[in-house]
Formats: sequence, structure tokens, C-alpha cells
Amino acid sequence: MYFGSVRFFKHLIVAVVLIIIIFLSITAAFMIKINKNYKNQVNALEIRNTQLEQKAKFFIQTCEPIDYQTKFPNLYVNAVRHWVDSSNTVYLTFDDGPSERTEEVLDILKEKNIKATFFVIGKEGYEEKQLMRKIVDEGHTIGIHTYSHKYKEIYASVEAYLEDFNKIYNLIYETTNVKPEIFRFPGGSINIYNESINYEIVAEMTRRGFTYYDWNATGADASNSATANSILTNAVNSSGGKDKIIMLLHDSQNKGDTVEILPALIDSLKSKGYKFDKLTRNVKPIAFNYSE
Ligand SMILES: [Zn+2]
Repeated sequence: MYFGSVRFFKHLIVAVVLIIIIFLSITAAFMIKINKNYKNQVNALEIRNTQLEQKAKFFIQTCEPIDYQTKFPNLYVNAVRHWVDSSNTVYLTFDDGPSERTEEVLDILKEKNIKATFFVIGKEGYEEKQLMRKIVDEGHTIGIHTYSHKYKEIYASVEAYLEDFNKIYNLIYETTNVKPEIFRFPGGSINIYNESINYEIVAEMTRRGFTYYDWNATGADASNSATANSILTNAVNSSGGKDKIIMLLHDSQNKGDTVEILPALIDSLKSKGYKFDKLTRNVKPIAFNYSE
């Protein structure tokens, strides 16, 4: 009988050994193939990385800075910031000074014992320089509002904006020994004169470390029809319910009404529990929304 015989077991052993050998051979072939595929993939990745590196090198070698980025090499400030707590705080800001009104504004601020921010323009008279120094000496912030304040000129190009900015920066620095770090765009960061260029100006000024501030409350005192009453009402109403207020007001000769209501405005906001402070680059900015 074959089954169960010695011969049968011999054949069985041979068959099992053959099956094991065949199985091992197939597995080995399979492993070699996988390994080959893996090596191919690694090679492909290495080639891709090399190509990317070459591309990056090419980009770095050929990427020239934009012309205006190389201009005014000293027009940079340290952009390191530590945001301060601005809750329940009013930041009064006065644009367009120094002016015949600056002294009155400063006296009110002193009397009320509060600090504020002046975004000044390029006025080079003796009196005006004295006022710039007084703003700084009395502990307020002096910021940039442009030299010329001529919308069509400053917003003609990034170069034009920088040129103007550099001029007022130097005037402030030479006059007060303070390097201004913050600024306000005439007309706000987004207006009909700069809409095609505001992204680029903001990007360039941010690259240089400067910080701009729009506003979220205003006495609307720039309007020709503004009266003392309307300025106070607008200022109070536009502040309503806000935790942090950056208030736009103006410091110029024909803004006597603003000066007139300033003490009442300060008292009104104080009575609502607000504290007052000056802007520094450590105050988180309020900026107009591009979608507005
Ligand atoms: Zn202005």
C-alpha cells in the first residue's frame, strides 16, 4: 500500500521541501521587486528635491528686491511688539498738527492728566517745531501723518509715499530726537485716493517695521458743517459700547470747536469708566477692513 508506506513519507517530505523552496523563492522575488520599487521611488524623490533646490537657488539668485525696497536704508524701526492690555481704554488722536490749537489741546490734556497721540504733518516754522517738542516733552506720542498731506502726491506710487514719509520722519527726528514708529494714513488706510496701491504701501511700511492706526470712533470734526455740538455728539455716540477706542480728532487752526468740547468729551468718557492712554507700537492696531 502506497499511503502510509515509507515511500509515501519520503515523497511527502520531498514535496513539502519543494513547496517550501518554491514559496521562499516567490517571496524573495516579491521582496526584491518591492525593494526595487522603493529604491526607484527614493531616487525619484531625490531627483525632485534636487530640482527644487536648484529652482530655489535660481530664484534667490535672480530675485532682485523691488526698487523702492532698497531706498531709504535708514527708514526702518524695530518691529518687536508686546501687546499691552487696551481694554476699557480711549486713545485720543489728533491729526494734522502742529497748529495754533496744539497748545490749547496740550493744556487741556495736562489739566485732565491724560496722554494722547499727535499724528503730525510737515511744518517747519519755529513755532511749529517748538510745539512738536512740547508734544514729546509733555509725554505724548508723536506719530507720522505724512509731510505734505497731499493725497494725489503721496498716493501716486509707493516711491512717492516713501519719499514723503522719509521727509516727515527726518523732520520729527531732527526736531524732537524721537524716532517715530507709528503712523496714520491721510484719509485712513483705505480711501478713494489709495485704493489701487494701499496693499502695497501697507506691505512696504510693515516690512520696514512701522505700524499704522485707523480709528473706530470720531468726532467727525473734519467736516465743514461740524459744530461743537455735533463733534461732541458724534464722538460720544461713535464710542458707544466699545471696549477699546481709537478716537480721530483734528488739531488745526479752524478746529476751535474740537478744542471747545474736548474737556466735556474727556469727562463724559471718564464718567463711563474709561481710562486714557497714548498709542505706542505696543497697542494692537485698529485697521479698516478691506471688505468694507
Ligand atoms: Zn489728516
